[in-house]
Amino acid sequence: MTTRYAFMPIALPALPIAGSDVLFPVHRVYCVGRNYADHAREMGHDPDREPPFFFQKNPDNLRCDGQFPYPPLSNDVQFEIELAVCLAKGGEGIDAANALDTVFGYAVALDMTRRDLQAEAKRLGRPWDTAKAFEYSAPCSPVRPASEIGHPAAGAIWLEQNGVRRQSGDLAQMIWSVPEQIAHLSRLFVLRPGDVILAGTPAGVGRVTPGDKIHGHVEGVGDLLVAVA
Ligand code: MN
Repeated sequence: MTTRYAFMPIALPALPIAGSDVLFPVHRVYCVGRNYADHAREMGHDPDREPPFFFQKNPDNLRCDGQFPYPPLSNDVQFEIELAVCLAKGGEGIDAANALDTVFGYAVALDMTRRDLQAEAKRLGRPWDTAKAFEYSAPCSPVRPASEIGHPAAGAIWLEQNGVRRQSGDLAQMIWSVPEQIAHLSRLFVLRPGDVILAGTPAGVGRVTPGDKIHGHVEGVGDLLVAVA
């Protein structure tokens, strides 16, 4: 018998796949905190002493329309350029040695952050959700399949704001590699096909202003152009 719902369910969030007319269906969005040493330091932490930690965004926070509407209730909204890892397989207790078998492909994403709300949450020992998991908070490029681009473990990752380079790093600087991220996450959660991992940001995060043009790039993956509205 066909499943019947009390009302029409919201459409499944999905990302375009570059060069294809099929979509990548999104299940969950996990984010890695402080995964580049220089960014951990700029946020006031010692990167050598911390195991990886994770937070989540909502699946429908991923947006591919190139628009970032400035959110309400914040005066300090900041960009974080990140590699997005898009899984085609799930599992529990995945070993790092096999972890890349779960990856469908990669995209370029922004982990937009209401930094003022995050600072308040940190001060008060509260969760980060309103700082991280708000509407439109994860602008994202189309997904590039690993079958075409491989699994980038090194290469430039940078962000320009109105033509000025603000963030610049290399994927090789990640404290926890993509396979290690998948291994850790799969011990905390049951990973599923459609999960997306935002792999952390290098130093240079900064605030956006309406009218800004943001250009993010990950070598071997592609570009993301976002207008702040
Ligand atoms: Mn981030």
